[in-house]
Amino acid sequence: MLIPIHEEMTCEALGAHFSQRALEVILAANRKQDALSGQIGHDEFHFDNNAIERGMAYINEQRGLVIASLLSPGVLSAWVAFGRLIHTVQDFYSHTNYVSLWLDAHDGTPPAPSEIDPVRKDLIESQKLHSGRIYLPLDALYFIPFLRNFSLGLLPKDSHGWMNLDSPKQGVRFEYARAAAIKRTGYEFDILKKILTPEMFTKFTDI
Ligand SMILES: [Zn+2]
Repeated sequence: MLIPIHEEMTCEALGAHFSQRALEVILAANRKQDALSGQIGHDEFHFDNNAIERGMAYINEQRGLVIASLLSPGVLSAWVAFGRLIHTVQDFYSHTNYVSLWLDAHDGTPPAPSEIDPVRKDLIESQKLHSGRIYLPLDALYFIPFLRNFSLGLLPKDSHGWMNLDSPKQGVRFEYARAAAIKRTGYEFDILKKILTPEMFTKFTDI
């Protein structure tokens, strides 16, 4: 998703749960995943190029880091790890076909975006789940507005260019991706709330 959308969704899901300084660190860590250093050779950060299992493993790894950091002095690294974690879960809905699979499961009568279940086990484990492949250089040209149509004309349908739901320009399915990403961000917070001791939880939320 585009950086301002990551920020907006994070604030919507977590704004009430963290202190302002914690939220700012979480937002900065989320944003940093989309810097060039986080784009090259890091498909798992964004669920690009069918890195489904690696993306899931990365989420678990960052969750483990949140917990380990909270058991050590200081709290910054816990917020940074959580910011990285939620970037990846948010990208899951805009870079894989999860939304399409969920809509297909309701064929004919799609419920409203607010009804989407972001963690349907049968869809997450489906053989049909895949993400957009990045075909260079065409997928890079996609990001240059006046070359977008040219690159789409040449890109295959399983490309990032065709599959992404990164912004409202992608149409109605973007609203489902956005709703799912916000719910999943809250869900990841709830998982930690259950796992952490009250002392660790207070340290984490900083309020
Ligand atoms: Zn990303």
